[in-house]
Parts: sequence; structure tokens; C-alpha cells
Amino acid sequence: MADTTPLVCICGAGPAGALAALYLAQRNCNVVLVEKAPIDKDAMGTTVGPRTYNILLAKRSLLALEGAGVKLGDDESIMITHIVRYRKGAKKFMAFPAHVPWSRTINRGSLAGLLVRACEAYAGGKQQGSGSIKLRTGYSLSQLDVAARKATFAPVGADSSSQGQGQAGGEPFTLTYDLIIGADGTFSRLRQVLSEDAGVKASPEGPLTFTQEQDTMMYKPFTLASLQGLSIPLENVGSKFVVLADPKRNHSLFIFPTKDGVHRGTYLMPDGDHASHKSESDYVASLSDSFPVLNQAQLREIAAQLPGTPASSGGFNTRCSRLHAPGALLIGDAAHAMWPSLGQGASSALEDCAVLGKLLGPGPVSKAQLEALPAAFSAARHADVVAAVDLTEAGFGGKMQRTRAASPINLHMARFIGQMLLSKALPFLVPKPALMTLNDTTTPYTVVQHRVERQRVGGNIVLGGLALLAAYGVARAVMP
Ligand SMILES: Cc1cc2nc3c(=O)[nH]c(=O)nc-3n(C[C@H](O)[C@H](O)[C@H](O)COP(=O)(O)OP(=O)(O)OC[C@H]3O[C@@H](n4cnc5c(N)ncnc54)[C@H](O)[C@@H]3O)c2cc1C
Repeated sequence: MADTTPLVCICGAGPAGALAALYLAQRNCNVVLVEKAPIDKDAMGTTVGPRTYNILLAKRSLLALEGAGVKLGDDESIMITHIVRYRKGAKKFMAFPAHVPWSRTINRGSLAGLLVRACEAYAGGKQQGSGSIKLRTGYSLSQLDVAARKATFAPVGADSSSQGQGQAGGEPFTLTYDLIIGADGTFSRLRQVLSEDAGVKASPEGPLTFTQEQDTMMYKPFTLASLQGLSIPLENVGSKFVVLADPKRNHSLFIFPTKDGVHRGTYLMPDGDHASHKSESDYVASLSDSFPVLNQAQLREIAAQLPGTPASSGGFNTRCSRLHAPGALLIGDAAHAMWPSLGQGASSALEDCAVLGKLLGPGPVSKAQLEALPAAFSAARHADVVAAVDLTEAGFGGKMQRTRAASPINLHMARFIGQMLLSKALPFLVPKPALMTLNDTTTPYTVVQHRVERQRVGGNIVLGGLALLAAYGVARAVMP
């Protein structure tokens, strides 16, 4: 008898790929999860490297994890109670409750490791009534036949196009799949292959195209043994996310608490600034100038790690013309990578998986249901993730930074701060800036984008009215 269990192949075992594997296995699919890099499930997140920064998870992602039965353990994540912000030159620290009383910070590597460990429970179809998950590390997609639904994977290193960092694995292998999912991050190989495929180009929907724009900010990760001694006027900094900013140079430090007691941070600078810092003493000079609240030991500890650490780009904003092709779909950063300016990348990636789960329904899925999934997913999700990328750009990303550099009066910021203050003073009249509600809501990004636009127009009208009033006042004062 023919096997009726659908086979799903997922490229990339990052947060999006591993969570999608869980949602699909729980609906009776057999999943092959292919990851190019070696995975150290236990050590992930404990070393400093480009993938070991901490991320904040918003409500939408926590619900997506919950939907697949994944719990963030207290040993992996920490609940943020306050965000502490200090600007160079300001008299005081600003400490305000986190937008979401239960928002979490977790190391990106720990999150992926936690999800891969959850996938192991499905190895060999151990869970009753479910499909299975088979993890293959050290492989990358080398050939795809979209019409025949066949994907061949080669050991990383054997295939120069994979750009992998993993060890060369065993023999290449070929899978005949019902569905292939690209969860292979910003430089997705599957997305590239689909965009070049002649059959996809000739399909009624036209070619699958994408554009990418690099963030202007670069970051280096570091660890900090203790925040004690930092002149923060708060007793317990254990559950607080600390942001130190030097707006003039556009340098920031983001410092996250972690469960191991060590603080983990990222040092953000505009493109090129890290390159001009050649030595530890260059970093000591910049850190002490920008962040005088750090004590000598702290700034030396941070500076010592930086010259040898490569600077990574904050990311690439990625927009795809659609998220599907026959028998294939894209999720997470492969579909919609975004700058970290609003902290929505992982949250939207995990929400993709919940959308997949919702479209499939609770029961075991058939091959026919899977066949319809890519187009349904694209229809349900495309506008929303493009809105998330747009918001990231318009919010506090590179475009805003460029506007600030170009104009001494930053209207965007003036509107935002003005509305924030008014919403505090007159909450019944003025709503919170829509951008600030991103983390405590599951409202679709398109709706948030619409609200941001409405508030922008409203803000302009208020600013215009104030300018007219001021002009009228001046005219009255100078006119005889
Ligand atoms: C500094 C910084 C701060 C951030 N802060 C936040 C935040 O606060 N909140 C938030 O929500 N998001 C944040 N993000 C974004 C977040 O990290 C990403 O959006 C998230 O990791 C995306 O998950 P993913 O699984 O789609 O992709 P990835 O995490 O990139 O995982 C992709 C996986 O695919 C593998 N892979 C790649 N190519 C191949 C291939 N050819 N074959 C097989 N496997 C492959 C990779 O090794 C990797 O394991 C931040 C990002 C940065 C850079």
C-alpha cells in the first residue's frame, strides 16, 4: 500500500524551521529537517559569536511557541520586568515597565537549541498519533526539481554554493517531498533556487522575486560579568534590559540579563565605525566617551573582547513578491528578514509557524491539504510580513537614522515623543503610539501599519496647527 503520510522537507533548523517541524509532525507529517551548521544543543548560546545575541520575544511569538506545546523554561529565558534607558548627557536613567509584563529575553542560539531538543521527541515517530522529525546536520540544498518534487542535499563543503560553516558530512541524499519549506535564513538557498527556476518563472503567478536592503548599523556581541557598579539607581538589575545610547555618534549598547548571571550585550555603531576601531584602546576611548556610566573595569572588560570579534550587519530587509511556489513555501528570515530595530524578526518568524498550524487545522493532514498550503499561506501572510518589514524601516531603522542625519529637526521623533507624552497625560483622548503596541499584541502587522500611518497624518495636523498658532501669536505680538 502507498504511504499516505506526507513528507515535508525543511531547510534550516533555526527558530522558524524547528518550530515549523514541530507543528507539522504534530499533524502527522514526516519531517526531514536539514541544517547546514553543526548543532550543539546544549552549548548553544553559551559562547560569544555572531549568532549568540539575545532577542526579546513578543506576545505573538510566545503564543506561537505555546501552540506547539513549547515552554520557555526558567533556565533558558528570563522575564523582563523593566527596560532601563540612559542617554549620554541625560541627568537621569529612564526606567519603565516592559511593554509586555511577561515578555521574555532569550539567547537566539538557546532558543534554536531548545526547539531542536523538542524536535528530538519526534525522532523515529516516537510520539503516538504523530509523524516523525529526522534532523540531518551538515547538509545544504544542492539541486531542486520543482516539477518532480525532488530535492538533493550535499554535505556542506562539497557544494560551494552552500557557503556553510559545518563539517563535511556523509553522502549526498535525495528526497521526494510533498512540501519543501525554506527556513534557511536571510541568504536562503531555497529562495534563490526558486527565484531562478524556469518552471516557477513561467507559472501563472509569474516569477518569485525578492529585494534586499542592508541595515546601516553593525554590531559586535560581548559579555559582561556584572552590572554592579554601573550607576543605575535601581537595586536589582537582574531582570532589566539596559539600553545605553549616545545619540550624537549613534552608538548604543544593549545589555541583556541572562540566566547564567553573565550579562550579554551588543555594541551597535553605524557602518564603518567598527572598522575604524582597530585596538582595545580605541574601544576604551569610545566607550568611556559615549557611556560614562560604565565604570573602568566594565569598559575594559567589554573593550578587550571587541577587536577580535567580527562586526555583523544588523541585517537585511527582505521583501519577496510572494512566499510560495508549487510544493514550496518560505518562512522566517528566508521570507522576510528584517532589521533588528523593532525586534520583530524572530517574533514574526515564529508567528509564521502558528499561521501554518492554523491553516492546517488540528487533525492529521492529508497530502491534498499540504498541496494547497503554500498558496494559502502566501495569501494569509504575505501582506502582513511586508508590513512588518515596512514598519521596521520606517520605525527606528536605517531610514529614520538617515532622516535624522539629514535634518536637524526630526519630525518622526518629535511626533512619536509628543504622542507618547500626550497619551500618558490624556490617555482617554490620545492613544499610545501604535509602534509601541507591537510587542503586547497579536494584531496583524498590516493593522498596526495602518494605525501608524493614521497617527502620522494626525500628528502632522497637530504639528501644523501648533505652527499656525505660533505664527499667529508672533504676528499679533509684532503687529501694531
Ligand atoms: C543583533 C540582532 C538582534 C535581534 N533582536 C531581535 C529581537 O529582539 N526580537 C526578535 O524577534 N528578533 C530579533 N532579531 C532577529 C532574529 O534573530 C531572526 O529574525 C530570527 O533568528 C529568524 O529565525 P529563522 O529561523 O528564520 O532564521 P535564522 O535564525 O537565520 O536560522 C536559519 C537557519 O538555517 C540554517 N541555514 C542557512 N542556510 C542553510 C542552507 N543552505 N541549508 C541548510 N540550513 C541552512 C542556518 O544555519 C540557521 O540555523 C535580531 C537579529 C539580530 C541580528
